[in-house]
This record gives sequence, C-alpha cells and structure tokens, in this order.
Amino acid sequence: MNIETVFRNNEQWIREKLEADPAYFEHLAQGQTPELLYIGCSDSRVTAEDIMGLQPGEAFVHRNIANLVNNVDLSVMSVLNYAVRHLKVNHVVVCGHYNCGGVKAAMQPADMGILNPWLRSIRDVYRLHKDELNAITDEGKRYDRLVELNVQEQCVNLIKTAAVQEAYKERGLRVHGWVFDIRTGKLIDLKIDFDKILKDIMEIYSLY
Ligand SMILES: [Zn+2]
Repeated sequence: MNIETVFRNNEQWIREKLEADPAYFEHLAQGQTPELLYIGCSDSRVTAEDIMGLQPGEAFVHRNIANLVNNVDLSVMSVLNYAVRHLKVNHVVVCGHYNCGGVKAAMQPADMGILNPWLRSIRDVYRLHKDELNAITDEGKRYDRLVELNVQEQCVNLIKTAAVQEAYKERGLRVHGWVFDIRTGKLIDLKIDFDKILKDIMEIYSLY
C-alpha cells in the first residue's frame, strides 16, 4: 500500500456512497446521534465500525493501546464525557481482542520506556486476579483470560466515573464488555454483570 492508494480509495468510496444516496454527505454533515460509545484497541487489525457492521454516524469511537479506561487520561475521559453527557449515548462498550500486543507486553518482564506507566494498568489487572490467572497452566489460555479480565476491569473503571453513574440514574445507560476474537472474527459479549458491579462498588465509588 502507498499513500496515493488511500486517496484513490477515497474517491471510489465517495462514488459508491453517492450512487446509493445522492444526499449522503448532506445528511452526514448535519450532525451525529450515535447510540453507542466504543472504546477499543488501536491495533490495526481491530477496526471499530467494520467488525460491528456500522456506518459513519452510528458509533462514537475511542481507541488506545489495550483499550484502557484510565481515570487520569484526559483523552479517554473527554471522549467519555462528551459521548455520555452531550451526545447522550445509551451504551458504552469496552472491546478488547485476543492476541493483544499491549496485554502480551504487560505479561513480560521488559522495560518498555514510556509505555511502562500505560501498561502498568494491565499489570494491576493481573495482580487483582493473580490467583485465577496463575491457576491457568496453559500460557495461551492465561493470555486470553487476561484480555477478558482487562476488559472487565476497564468496565469497572467506567462505572467509577460521574458521567456513567449520572447517566445510569437518569436514563439507564448500560456498560458492556466485549472481546473480538481475531482468530475467527467473532465478537463475544462477556456479559459482565453491570448491575452487580455497580452495586458492589457504589459503597466506595458512589459520586451521587
Ligand atoms: Zn490490542
């Protein structure tokens, strides 16, 4: 692939959109009312709209290495607040994926420079679930499980925020934890028990 290809592809895409709907871009320019916020990994193999079959305008998207929801990350917190408080999305999704390089890096004793503080959040997930993870003898299965637990803990981090707590009370916003299985293409709902997690952590994290 070279950069010129991108612009040729773009011209082709415009032609296809206009063939199907001559007013496509007029509608697109009018505004957005996405129903969900998708927080996923930056991995080039895990695109947001493609795997969900969604079109421009249907998902508000944030991606970073290993789909982390870090309390002091101004970027993810800004995206969350804008999506929940202004665009009024009703669903917030954290989507991890198997074979995640970020999660793999956090399982190894390696100095990754500036990535150390970022990946440390995943080491914290490992520490929280150390007994369960260490009991898994197959390394591949342990890696898969850490991917899932990382998604779960990022969902917990979402539930700790004022924006999510307020929108839950106000209009029943839901938080979902998913994993994209890069080996089969399947999107798996981890079915995290949102109400139970919310109830469990409210004793300490309630902001209302
Ligand atoms: Zn990843």
